[in-house]
Amino acid sequence: TSKDSGKNKFSVFDLEMNRYQVRRMSLEKDLRKALARSEFMVVYQPKWDSITNVTVGLESLLRWRHPEHGIISPVEFIPIAEETGLIVPITYWMLHEVCSQNMLWHKEDVATVAVSINMSARMFEGESLYDIVEEALTRSGLAPHFLELEITESIAMNNMEETVVLLSKLRKLGVRVSLDDFGTGFSSLGSLDEIPINTLKIDQVFIRKSKMHSKKAIISNIIAIAANLNMEVIAEGVETTEQIELLQSLGCTVMQGYYYGKPMPVNELGQWFLDKKAV
Ligand code: C2E
Ligand code: MG
Ligand code: MG
Ligand code: MG
Repeated sequence: TSKDSGKNKFSVFDLEMNRYQVRRMSLEKDLRKALARSEFMVVYQPKWDSITNVTVGLESLLRWRHPEHGIISPVEFIPIAEETGLIVPITYWMLHEVCSQNMLWHKEDVATVAVSINMSARMFEGESLYDIVEEALTRSGLAPHFLELEITESIAMNNMEETVVLLSKLRKLGVRVSLDDFGTGFSSLGSLDEIPINTLKIDQVFIRKSKMHSKKAIISNIIAIAANLNMEVIAEGVETTEQIELLQSLGCTVMQGYYYGKPMPVNELGQWFLDKKAV
């Protein structure tokens, strides 16, 4: 009867929820030990100047090599890390790892480009971010303008006054700042000029749907805003030559996406730079 099937559906849903919660809890438990067990790995995705045909930067992206589940996506574990506060020590580790790796590329004359690191909102609570960035730079010997922090619109808009103070200090030090996933966060355009940002990163959803007239209009306007506010602009998620041509025709020439290169581990990047050149 319908009553029975309704009941069944409910218990299937219950089971699904339970399975989800079990995985969530076991991942949380394992995440607490992941740093000490060296299970994190950083991969790097090129940012490409499509006019001069050189790599102009890299974005660092975190991967978790779980002993049983294999590679776990940051989309799954970053939210757990944020909820538990584990994102703070993980980000500290990233800062040291990325700065010293970039310094190594400089010393070995492999590449001299800025590498960006994604920041969680948590990193903007309290004031320790400035000190830890400075420490990572000092310890590695990396010049500040070779480090870039990617923030999101929600970070920028939450607690705006404090965030602007912290970002201004970091910018004064020489560190670069970019606004990630731009266009998806419903940020108030009215305050965009008050946040110290070097680069707007156009979110990949607009690039994916760039055949649509309306999305094209949004891309075009983001490019205009960047130009008018003296910011650089980069397109994320570029996968096809059609997208490249469209972006170029709209005035965006720096791009990041599978078309140019997927995120790669350090051992593959050496060869990448040999093949592709960097600035
Ligand atoms: P994000 O910062 O916007 O990074 C871009 C994501 O798009 C990456 O996914 C990248 O692999 C993917 N991507 C790049 N090009 C293409 C493309 O052409 N097509 C498609 N379909 N995807 C592309 P990933 O590595 O899975 O990271 C997802 C998100 O997880 C990141 O989005 C970022 O928000 C977060 N994340 C990754 N690493 C870290 C980290 O170290 N710290 C923090 N706080 N968040 C991180
Ligand atoms: Mg990013
Ligand atoms: Mg992004
Ligand atoms: Mg994203």
